[in-house]
Order: sequence, then C-alpha cells, then structure tokens
Amino acid sequence: MDLGIAGKRALVCASSKGLGRGCAEALAAEGVHLVLNARGAEALETTAAHIRATYGVEVVAVAADITTEDGRAKVLEAAGDVDILVNNAGGPPPGMWSDWEREDFIKALDANMLTPIALIKALVPGMIDRGWGRVVNITSGSVKSPIPVLGLSNSARAGLTGYVAGTSRQVAGKGVIMNNLLPGIHDTDRATSLDQGVAKADGSTVAEARKKREATIPAGRYGTAQEFGATCAFLCSQYAGFIVGQNLLLDGGAVNATL
Ligand code: NAP
Repeated sequence: MDLGIAGKRALVCASSKGLGRGCAEALAAEGVHLVLNARGAEALETTAAHIRATYGVEVVAVAADITTEDGRAKVLEAAGDVDILVNNAGGPPPGMWSDWEREDFIKALDANMLTPIALIKALVPGMIDRGWGRVVNITSGSVKSPIPVLGLSNSARAGLTGYVAGTSRQVAGKGVIMNNLLPGIHDTDRATSLDQGVAKADGSTVAEARKKREATIPAGRYGTAQEFGATCAFLCSQYAGFIVGQNLLLDGGAVNATL
C-alpha cells in the first residue's frame, strides 16, 4: 500500500534507537525525507547513514537534547519547514509515588509534556499555512492504564493527552492531523532497563524478569519497533485524514478493557 507521503519531510525526535527509530525507518521506506535527533552523536550518525543507504532519502541528523530549550532551537533551525512531526523523548525513571519531589515532576513534565507541546507550537502553524500536516506523539499505555512505578510518566503523559485532545480538533479543519500512539512493552533499550529494574527488585535474572513481563501480555511477547513504526507511518499517511485526536494502544492486548 502506497501511503501517499513520498517527498514529504518529517522531524522524528529521539530517533537513533528504539521506537523513534522504528518510526523514522517506516517513514523513510515511504520516501519521506528525515530530520533525526538524539543526544548521542555516534548512534545517531550510524542510524542516519543506515537510513540514507537503505532508503535513499535525505537525512539530516541533529545531536541535541530535545527536552531543553537550546536543544529544541538547534533541532528546529536544522529542520526548517516539516510536514510531519513525531514527538518522542526518553521516559521518566521508575520509583515510588511517595518519593517524587516537585523537581522530579518538573523534569518529567518538561520532557514528556512541555517539549512536545513546544514543538507542536513551533511547527504546526507552518503546516496550517501549507494546508497539510501530521503530528504523532509517542506517549505510553500508562495513559490508559497507570503503571504503578511510572507515576511520573502516568502524570506527564496524561497532561499531553489532554492538550492533544483539545488541539487536534482545532487544527483538523486546516489539514493537520494529530494523534497519539501508546506503546505497551516493546523490545527496546528502555524495556531492557525496566526488565533490569524488575530483576533487581525480585532478586531474579533479567531473562526471568522478561518472561514474567511477557506473561502479562496476551500476545505472549514484546512488540517490535518495526510494528510500531508501521503504525506511525499509517497515521502520517494520506489515509489518516479522518483520524483525529485518537489514542491508539499498541500493547499486545495487555490492557484488559472492552473499549
Ligand atoms: P529507547 O530505546 O531508550 O530509545 C530512546 C531514544 O531516544 C534513543 O535514540 C535516545 O538516544 C533518544 N533520546 C532519549 N532521550 C532523549 C532526549 N532527551 N533528547 C533527544 N533524544 C533522546 O526508548 P524507547 O523504548 O524507544 O521509548 C521511546 C518512548 O516510548 C519513551 O518515552 C518511553 O518511555 C516510551 N515507552 C516505551 C515503552 C517500551 O516498552 N519500549 C513502553 C511505553 C512507553 P540518546 O540516549 O542518545 O539521546
């Protein structure tokens, strides 16, 4: 299926690895030119080179912390006008509800709520002027079903979800389509580090911790960045124009709910 977006330009934040990279590769496979971002320059350049060589699209790589004002300014300057924005950043650390202080919340809000909002505010006006745009925010299954140790994520992402719910409906009529993708457990470095946390807490091995977490997923396995990226590319496609402000859960059935 041709998604009808060849030749468009996308900014994919936090995309040298994991789910962001999955989204970048799926867009590149559709002929979308990319601006990639991550803090670590080495992995970023490796990913950029791989995507250029594999898909033949233009790739600009910007090493910067997207959660800082300076980092965003650097990325936005290199990106210029883009048709597609995929918002992503690292997730907050796990912990206990009683431990987090104001500063911890501010950090989580900055990374997982205020950063995507700042990028939406910077890039959506141009999309509106050009009459076409797509925004996909990578949030978390924790928006639908809270994860006890990830209270900072539960809180910050819920805030972004509320903002997107209202904003998506104000820009849809101008050709800009905005939705959220909610990952359940996917096979990335983030999942491995959470497995390590579970193993430490349980006194088990990382392999045992993974098996235990896989058993909570009806699909019986972790998701892949490739599956996730393909869904992102569809939400960025010409065919997604009537999908507005939705929260699409990719979790192998882990959230047990009818709707
Ligand atoms: P990951 O495998 O750890 O990859 C994170 C990517 O983001 C890397 O390329 C990393 O590169 C980059 N990055 C991290 N912080 C950044 C920053 N401040 N500025 C720019 N780039 C940054 O993570 P993931 O599993 O793909 O997860 C992506 C998002 O989905 C996270 O917010 C995570 O919490 C959420 N999520 C993931 C899962 C899961 O199971 N994987 C489940 C639910 C939610 P550098 O380190 O070099 O910057």
